[in-house]
Amino acid sequence: MSIETPLRQQDGAPVRQQPMLEVKDLVVRYGHGKKAATAPPAVDGVSFAIQPGETVGLVGESGSGKSTIGKAILGLQKVAGGSVEFQGEDITHANSGKRRGIGSDLRAVFQDPNSSLNPRKTIGSSLAEPLRVRGLAASEARTKAEDMVERVGLPRDAVDRYPSQFSGGQRQRISVARALICEPQLVVCDEAVSALDLSTQAQVLNLLADLRDERGLSYLFIAHDISVVQFLAQRVVVLYRGQVMESGPAAAVTESPKHPFTQALVAASPVPRPAEQAERRAVRESLGVRTASAVAATAGGCPFRQRCPLATELCATERPALRRVGEADVACHYA
Ligand code: ADP
Ligand code: MG
Repeated sequence: MSIETPLRQQDGAPVRQQPMLEVKDLVVRYGHGKKAATAPPAVDGVSFAIQPGETVGLVGESGSGKSTIGKAILGLQKVAGGSVEFQGEDITHANSGKRRGIGSDLRAVFQDPNSSLNPRKTIGSSLAEPLRVRGLAASEARTKAEDMVERVGLPRDAVDRYPSQFSGGQRQRISVARALICEPQLVVCDEAVSALDLSTQAQVLNLLADLRDERGLSYLFIAHDISVVQFLAQRVVVLYRGQVMESGPAAAVTESPKHPFTQALVAASPVPRPAEQAERRAVRESLGVRTASAVAATAGGCPFRQRCPLATELCATERPALRRVGEADVACHYA
């Protein structure tokens, strides 16, 4: 795989290129029958694109639909509406044959490394498996597996050991190795560092950043913690109850959030410095945002209105469309 720099016109402006991934008006519903048809969908009209080499961060509270979006992209969850295009090809309802065809270009790293590493298989055979499926000889696959474990910071002989012989952080490095061994174009990372302690988290984030820069990878980086997303993402999409509340350049969204929900999310994100933490707590309290448990889900209008200090009658009747506020797109009547 070659690392391509984006094409540039004479005046230095990037040429509009085909997105790596384009999600349009995505709708995903769980369950069957009348209840599923009337309940608000888990993902409700979400659109965003990821350019080649770009990292898009997807943030939101637990249950906001982040993993569901990831699963819909990976073909692990049925899509009820909208579309998913990968490298210009519509894969919304791709069958397993077509999925296999793009399988090595589109990979995933999940929170739990055990989901991609079989405890009864050596690291080497777990890593070699996707290569063997592609027809690589056993000896070649082993060499590639050794190269890859070395690249993620483990000794080459790690290929002969089992997952239980490694720490959580090491296992997550091995999951990254397994995702990247087929040289994918796009990697969906769903809470990939969320189970790790802070210093291990930083190491794995640095590894992901280095691999991206080396290989020109695109990431969809999903996490509930906006400070983790901020580290890797160039653009951030903020989700609330299956809908996009705000999206834009990472610096704009995280440093001067416009949507009341994004403001609350930023104020709630943990920071290592106690003084800043206290400052954020004061900001959070001054926002007057109610906690998620205090309000029930309701259909129609703005999904955030019951927790929102700015909400009026309009917010109960009309779902705010995304509109440009500063550098970001914001779904709020009053932001
Ligand atoms: P997140 O990853 O942001 O925490 P999820 O995408 O896992 O959120 O979940 C979004 C919503 O869909 C939640 O309300 C959750 O309860 C529901 N949900 C997720 N998976 C299933 C499932 N397999 N069956 C039914 N409901 C589900
Ligand atoms: Mg999730």
